Amino acid sequence: MSPESRGRKPKSRSSRIERRRAAAREARGLLPDQLLRTMMSNADELLEPDVTVFDAESMVSSLLGSWWGKSLVDADPDEVFGEALIDHAAQQATPAALALLLCLAEVGPDRARVKASHAAEQVRAGGVPVPAWAASLGTVEPDSCFLAEDVTGDGSSLILTFRYADQEPHALVVFIDHNLGDIAKDTWAAIEGSEVVERWRAGAEDDPEMEFSQIEPARARAIAEHALVNTDAAFRPPVSDEFSHYRALTLTRVRLLPYDPEIVAFPDNERVAIESLDDDEQRRALALPPIEPDARAQLEAEDLDPELLDPHDPDHRQVLIERAHPEHAQALEQGQDEVHGSSAGLHLALHQVIAGQIMDGDPSETLDTGRRLLASGYDAHNLQHALMFALSEPMRKVLVEQREFDVAEYIAALDLLPESWRVAVEKGGTESS
Ligand SMILES: [Zn+2]
Repeated sequence: MSPESRGRKPKSRSSRIERRRAAAREARGLLPDQLLRTMMSNADELLEPDVTVFDAESMVSSLLGSWWGKSLVDADPDEVFGEALIDHAAQQATPAALALLLCLAEVGPDRARVKASHAAEQVRAGGVPVPAWAASLGTVEPDSCFLAEDVTGDGSSLILTFRYADQEPHALVVFIDHNLGDIAKDTWAAIEGSEVVERWRAGAEDDPEMEFSQIEPARARAIAEHALVNTDAAFRPPVSDEFSHYRALTLTRVRLLPYDPEIVAFPDNERVAIESLDDDEQRRALALPPIEPDARAQLEAEDLDPELLDPHDPDHRQVLIERAHPEHAQALEQGQDEVHGSSAGLHLALHQVIAGQIMDGDPSETLDTGRRLLASGYDAHNLQHALMFALSEPMRKVLVEQREFDVAEYIAALDLLPESWRVAVEKGGTESS
């Protein structure tokens, strides 16, 4: 049985959560103004008498999910939707708007949280009543962390429990697909935290293919962040329907766990395979994105053996980069440049520059940084996207402002990886993903 389908998701869900999802699905197709109105009308549900603090945070996480993955030309979706929603709620200053602002201050995107918190303070100062559940907001603490690993190496699930002060633990589960570059493919939450853990423990006892163990909270954070970044950076990741609903809540909870930059998410994966290669092979593996089996078969059908293409040759590299990005290459062939809100041509061009720098060892910092990112658990294609992120601003100055390439600026940007890239990816504003 696949690690995703071992039926541990709670079967019954409240009709409110179902309605919330239907509304969020519908909202994905709406324009920002309509989206804001839909979101505000949904906020009334936060005031229903049986809503718990867990329900409220889950509902707002689900609302936030309706713009996850949207790419807007020249705009950051968090800014367009998140900040506009906060302004709108602050203006309305109703009890529902206050409830929404209070939750946004907890589970909102980075920049929006502070803004939401200030707006909530103002609305509150105007005498608008605070819902009863609000007293528990911000009292959440980590409880325990478990990892269920499929011995075949296909996937792993993180089972994390947290608790609000004086409440039973709730659980968050993140499924990581190792075959798709360690992306977080599914995430869900349940109020019965201890039951969820016990169900996994019992399931692992009956299943010789699953290993279940308690892990250090810092490792759980490393795994979750690694996987969530990979999902955001992936091109059209095949995530579950629920993923976007719980993404914001998961991110917020995971950040309550201790951070340790020395801890690697999955020390035994691809990283080790690449690390064990000799210098030249390692350079190739870091320079060029891997080609998926379908595209590889296509190349072979054309009598082109990818192993015979020389990564030192820019023309050969171009073929390898294009074949690793079939959707980008196809768009360009059809005379379109935009693929999901970013430039396909620029994406491939930045890959080419990074690959050349790694193969030529010039500047040597590109390869060094690639190795450093590899050691912290990034796979080859994702670490290339991180390097491309560092390259994009100095490159923009060359292309748009016709300035000289500023190597020092580029090297300084490489030093800020992967944190700078992680933050940019979370805000949804990278050209290179
Ligand atoms: Zn790419």
